[in-house]
Amino acid sequence: MTDNTIDPTKMAGFRYATKRAVVLNGAEAGLDTDGGPWSTLCLRHDEVVAHETRKLAGSWVHHPDEWCEACGAERKAERAAEKRAAAAAARKAAKAAK
Ligand SMILES: [Zn+2]
Repeated sequence: MTDNTIDPTKMAGFRYATKRAVVLNGAEAGLDTDGGPWSTLCLRHDEVVAHETRKLAGSWVHHPDEWCEACGAERKAERAAEKRAAAAAARKAAKAAK
């Protein structure tokens, strides 16, 4: 999953990074600051969301699946796959118990 070719710490306005997203100073990064001066950017999908405070941006950066549509969809797919795998395992166990 870590196929990032760019080094997020070298991005304009960079403040903080997790493996999946970064906190940027919107003005320094040349981003739209209508929603707030701080932005979170999903490193895999380039989805950007503006936040009113750096603290808010700093808390959202840890949960890109909450604000990045593509990450949210991936998370949903992962959960569905986990559910299917658990159901299959349960069926297998039930069969073995017979
Ligand atoms: Zn994403």
